[in-house]
Amino acid sequence: MRPRPGVRPVPQRARPRPEVAALPLYRVAQHAPVRLNRNESPADWPADLKRVVLERVAARAWHRYPEADAAEVRAALARLEGLDPEMILATNGSNEAILGVLLAFAAGGAVVVPVPGYSMVRALAASAGARLVEVPLRPDFALDPGAVLAAADGAASGETAPVVFLASPNNPTGNAFSPEAVEAVVRAAPGLVVVDEAYAAFAGRTHQPLLDRYPHVALLRTASKAFALAGARIGWIVADPEVIGAVRRALPPYTLNVFSLEAARAAAERPDLVAERVRTVVAERERLAGALREVPGVTVFPSDANFLLVRTPLPAPEVAARLLAHGVLVRDVSAWPALTGCLRVSVGQPEEDDRFVAALRRVLEEGA
Ligand code: PMP
Repeated sequence: MRPRPGVRPVPQRARPRPEVAALPLYRVAQHAPVRLNRNESPADWPADLKRVVLERVAARAWHRYPEADAAEVRAALARLEGLDPEMILATNGSNEAILGVLLAFAAGGAVVVPVPGYSMVRALAASAGARLVEVPLRPDFALDPGAVLAAADGAASGETAPVVFLASPNNPTGNAFSPEAVEAVVRAAPGLVVVDEAYAAFAGRTHQPLLDRYPHVALLRTASKAFALAGARIGWIVADPEVIGAVRRALPPYTLNVFSLEAARAAAERPDLVAERVRTVVAERERLAGALREVPGVTVFPSDANFLLVRTPLPAPEVAARLLAHGVLVRDVSAWPALTGCLRVSVGQPEEDDRFVAALRRVLEEGA
């Protein structure tokens, strides 16, 4: 009989690295009538566009590897960016882009991140064997360039950091950093500066012009948010060809499968659809923020993204659990020291958002 998993302990000699063993498993609740916990697009792709992608996938040879350099997709994304394809690397979601950058530039060194920040960077830094150096944002969640640069220059450790990682707009705070603050970091950083622009479409601005002047900047993008393609796992890096080449060397080939490649190409061909979705989400974000500001005791922070950071007077884990009992999933982000009482709520369809606001009202009225 074959042993059942877990019955015999894995011997000491086959233990994972302690920093990996210490990571929490990525788990996210996904079953509820209203899901506002993952910053996805509230609406799916139109059926006719899905059909176009599926027809193109069907026309491909499935017994062959896809193109190792995703040439067509890079060309399509390059047109979208108005840049040379050599400056683009398509990845399996932008999480893979983050991992690739950390493997190529930060392994064995430090990565400086402002916090509260994108939580996945912690896990990916551990995977890549990079040390995380966390620098608090200002109380209003603005970037503190002096503090970031001091950390990157090794003020505490004596070691300069090969990578500074910023997300702007930032997750989970929702605010975009000021272009001046970001440029101040870029100008003086001792290594690569990664600006994760996962939510930039909702802010209506990008740091792309920095690339003209600073070849040590890498922008990260994703099709998971404004492009409504989280299920297709598409991200891309925009950077100097040398930076792109380094990340390509660090990652395995073929991480985009034929479906991802065709979905990415189709998405890049329809910037009009993306622009329309962004307008809808931004208008709904402002409507939702207005409705939440009417709820007694609730603070809504300004957002440049497709989600809102909300503070209530009750403990956030309890509020999140009680919202779920009303069928609404939100993200409890109160484990960050600066975010006591805070929830992160994605902008959904108007009726989903109304249901969330009504549920929150009920929960807060019922009290502790
Ligand atoms: N960066 C940020 C700041 C994010 O919030 C997310 C998604 N939550 C990602 C990157 C990853 O997106 P994906 O891997 O789906 O492209």
